[in-house]
Amino acid sequence: MQKERMKVTYTDDASIAKAAVKKAASTPQTLANSGRYGIMNTIGKEPIAITDEAIEKVPLVKPSGWSDEQAKNLQSAHKELLQYAKTEPIGTECGFLIDKSGSVVLRKTGELLSVRMPDISSEHMLVHNHPNNETFSRSDIESFLWRENMYGVTAIGNDGFTVHGMFKTDRYDGMNALDTYLGYRDRLLKIEEQKTDLEAYFNLIDKLMEDFKHHGIEVI
Ligand SMILES: [Zn+2]
Repeated sequence: MQKERMKVTYTDDASIAKAAVKKAASTPQTLANSGRYGIMNTIGKEPIAITDEAIEKVPLVKPSGWSDEQAKNLQSAHKELLQYAKTEPIGTECGFLIDKSGSVVLRKTGELLSVRMPDISSEHMLVHNHPNNETFSRSDIESFLWRENMYGVTAIGNDGFTVHGMFKTDRYDGMNALDTYLGYRDRLLKIEEQKTDLEAYFNLIDKLMEDFKHHGIEVI
């Protein structure tokens, strides 16, 4: 059984269950490399189609210290992102970079379960969609840790109501966060190479996220 990963659920699950789950038309591609915000391409749950109903369900999430307005801007960005990705083939990942004021400064269409975003020199966060609603991938985490100017990453599920987020707070301790991550990296890489044991992979990610909370990272 897949572990339930819905982080924010204030909607009727029945309508989601009824939603058609379609297979991505494209063939699986090679594994994600560094700089890609994709989950592993050859394993994982099937991507689901983005519906208008899903977009209406996008929740308001408010990281600590954010104003109501900032939270609303993020919610709008998530909705816009899903609208944007909805016009692409099922399973396509898209990403937006957002500056501190909440403006979208870059929009990019990726590929099946993967999108590669450029680094930019000003402070920004990344929002991207996860077509199978799963949590962060190794490459999401690496970019978050390695990109100094990236203060946050969210992944919004194609179901519209699953939101995963990680944010560097004032207490962010980059050295220890990186150290902690490196303690997981080999195990994650091994599972990616073997293309099996999805459950173990996401259990590791969940554990890592818990550890991150001790290093000034807010996990949503
Ligand atoms: Zn991702």
